[in-house]
Amino acid sequence: MKKYIALIILIMLIFQTTVFALDLGRINIDAINITNEPNYESKVLDKLNKNDHINILDSTDNYYKIKAPSGKTGWIDKFFVNVQPQRYFFNTCGTNANLRMSPTTSSKIIGQVEDGGKLKYIDTFHSWYVVEYKGMEAFVASWLGDIVSDGSHLVHFIDEPINIRTNPSLEGEVISRGYKYDGYKYLGEEYGWFKLGLDDGSQGYAAGWLLSLDNNFYINNILSFKNTTDNLRLRSGPSLNHEIITVMPKNTEVRVIELEGEWNKIVTWDGYVGFCHDDYLEETLPLSGKTIVLNPGHGGKDPGAISSSGRFEKDVNLSVSFMVRDVLEDFGANVVMTRDKDTYISRVARAKMADDLNADIMFSIHHNALNNSNYYGMSTYYDTKGNKSGAESSRLAESIYDSVVGINSIYRDGIYDRNFEVLRSTNTPAALIEIGFMTNAWEEKNIQNYSFQQEVSRQIAFGILDYFKTK
Ligand SMILES: [Zn+2]
Repeated sequence: MKKYIALIILIMLIFQTTVFALDLGRINIDAINITNEPNYESKVLDKLNKNDHINILDSTDNYYKIKAPSGKTGWIDKFFVNVQPQRYFFNTCGTNANLRMSPTTSSKIIGQVEDGGKLKYIDTFHSWYVVEYKGMEAFVASWLGDIVSDGSHLVHFIDEPINIRTNPSLEGEVISRGYKYDGYKYLGEEYGWFKLGLDDGSQGYAAGWLLSLDNNFYINNILSFKNTTDNLRLRSGPSLNHEIITVMPKNTEVRVIELEGEWNKIVTWDGYVGFCHDDYLEETLPLSGKTIVLNPGHGGKDPGAISSSGRFEKDVNLSVSFMVRDVLEDFGANVVMTRDKDTYISRVARAKMADDLNADIMFSIHHNALNNSNYYGMSTYYDTKGNKSGAESSRLAESIYDSVVGINSIYRDGIYDRNFEVLRSTNTPAALIEIGFMTNAWEEKNIQNYSFQQEVSRQIAFGILDYFKTK
């Protein structure tokens, strides 16, 4: 598990004013409770999942009062919230931009925004921006403008050293270098890259997947997984004097997020947060005993999509699959790949492999293509008609989508019930991801980037983990 050990530093207080002024956030861990008071031991009001969007209403030193997607309000440890900057759609198309009911040019126009005008940006879906218009959500085509922000919000590097470039792509000239925990003014994003304000007043770009949108560095906040070796009291602080939150039976798996001396700060899969003494915990591999069939799409005579730069989908599918396999094996899973080289295998034969192995899940990795090069985004798929494990498949597709969509350079394209041959020809719970569009020039560049592939692979593996743990 060493790969997941992040250096924990507490610098939240330094930036408290920045954080306090903002009101949008995103949950950074799956299955976490909110409570009716700012502590771990009070009544549980709701459970939130990774990448749920929340509104921040109030704050103490260590907790936010938030409004959950369900409409309920409650308190949560700041550790589990990534604060988002206020972003705007800025119309740069030279004329009025239409605001529509849904993300398609055939849907009803409900308003317009003039050239140079701004509207609050909420999210991206199906290559359209979701914006706030007269208190409602409206859609505007993303190719009509940019996502901008006023520079009052800092973003931080989560890796080092990272190049800052003149343009939002690897082809931009390197003008500066950013180091882990460095903060920069966030000015907006283009093509999955963040536009940053530099100290000398100039601007540059860095890859979004290497940055945290706020000063909370705990994005991938699980240090290790441990099992209780006895019936164990979960306490509200790191000593025997603290209140008991709940009692966990022997062999309960917990997620360790911080170490304080001999005490582990943990989150249970029921969503409780608290402290346990290390003497009663032992490390465990969270996916041991699970068999996962990983299916890199296409291969051999079937290249899959061909990008504008002439690259084959089958190759990038295989590269990403190897990375996903490595993370899943670190979690203790038994991973079987339908192919580990450039060979042709029919979809039905691949699907049968999962049934023959009596696998727990099957997961296919693809990249998308469309005759309209404007389109970009990540989508996942499952089948409920032919596959007898339709409900489980749906949950798997959702779990992986919710994990991967947290990457700053990944944009939502939806979760769909589709009768794909590889999904319907097995009765094993099965899902498929289209990571991005190879026919979109900028997304294709991100797709081919090694560090982007690594981050996507990690988040796919965490999505699979969440699927197994939260059923
Ligand atoms: Zn494909």
